Parts: sequence; C-alpha cells; structure tokens
Amino acid sequence: MDRIFRIAIDGPSGAGKSTIAKAIAAKLNIDYIDTGAMYRALGYKMLQLGISEDQEDAVARLLEETEIDFSKGDIILDGQIINNMIRTPEISMKASACSALGIVRKHLVKVQQEMGARKSVIMDGRDIGTDVFPDAEYKFFITATPEERANRRYKELIAKGENVTYEDTLKSIIERDYNDSHRAVSPLRKADDAEEVDTTEMTVDQVIDYICSKIDV
Ligand code: C5P
Repeated sequence: MDRIFRIAIDGPSGAGKSTIAKAIAAKLNIDYIDTGAMYRALGYKMLQLGISEDQEDAVARLLEETEIDFSKGDIILDGQIINNMIRTPEISMKASACSALGIVRKHLVKVQQEMGARKSVIMDGRDIGTDVFPDAEYKFFITATPEERANRRYKELIAKGENVTYEDTLKSIIERDYNDSHRAVSPLRKADDAEEVDTTEMTVDQVIDYICSKIDV
C-alpha cells in the first residue's frame, strides 16, 4: 500500500469509535490514534497537579512541559504508560472540561496533525473531520442513541470493576454530549462531507465491515 490516507472517525461519547477504529487499523495495517486518550492524559495530569481550567498560565506551562505519545497501542504520558488510569468517570469529565480550552485544543490538534502527516492513520475524536484533518480522504460520523451508548459504556465499566450505576453513566453521557457540542471552540459536529453511521442497531463487526467496504486500498 503506497498511498497515504487518513480516516477520520468522529462522534459522541460511547458510540464505539475506539473499538471500531482499533479493529480497522489492525485490518488495514495502519496506525490508530485515539485523540480522546490525549485529552484524558492531560486531564489526568491536571487532576494530579490540582490545576483547574481557569488557571490559564498554569495550563499553558503544563502544555509546554507535557509529552503525550502512543507506542504499540499504549498511551504514554511523560514516559509512563497510563492506559488504565484514564478510563474512569472522573477523568472523562475532566477531559471534557479541559478540552473546551482553546489553548489546549490548539496544542493537541497540532500534535495530532504531526502524528498523521507522513503515514496513513485512522484517528478518532470529536473534531478530526472538521479541524484536525479537514482534507481526510475518508470521514465517518458514528452515532447511537444516548441510552444505547450509556448501556455499552456501563457494561464496559462494570467489567473493569468500576462502581457505577446505569443512571449515572447515562447522566454523564448526556452531560458530555452537551459540553462537547456546545463549547465555543471546535464543538462536536458532523463534517459536511462525513458519512453518518447510526450504530444503535448494528453489531461492532457490522460497523467495521461497513466502513472497510468504503475504504479503497
Ligand atoms: O473519546 P473520549 O471519551 O475518550 O474523549 C474524552 C473527552 O475528550 C471527550 O468527552 C471530549 O470532550 C474530549 N475530546 C475532544 N476532542 C477530541 C477527542 C476528545 O474534545 N478530538
């Protein structure tokens, strides 16, 4: 495969973007970049250091001193693998809050553009088709009803031993949907040229097969 191409996968929380993107990356033998994990990593570090979103100078310094990267499917924050630390409800809300800051988005979008500049990638997030790679060769907007997304996320958290209820999970999904689609900077929205895929009634394999059938490699 000589041609370089980018696949943008956007959509609301819990729509299954990362599961789908990871599987497609393996099938096509290209890199998968989970941009949500990058906002989570930053949110995790802000919580550790007690930095809030209104401390602009501290956030600016933090961005300069922070290194976020991926290696062999792991997310690395300042040299440390943090996969398991960033998937809690607390970090979800912190990631959503810090991702609304213009300075944070500007910085991470630049890092993401560099990651996808020289190789084929599949990248998932909220603004990949609109801001990170507006010229991506393939764009999909993955959705499902809030109830179905909460159900999937709830099962995932319970399987990991988290102490959560379905009601709280649904509340958090609805809250993050609102935050993500109403923020002033790069709100979540479908790119005009993205194809919407409603996965409410689809299995993971059906979504993967459908998207792969649209990729011309
Ligand atoms: O996708 P995930 O749930 O891991 O993302 C965590 C949070 O990071 C989202 O709720 C969203 O607020 C933010 N995010 C973003 N832009 C992206 C990816 C994630 O604003 N490209």
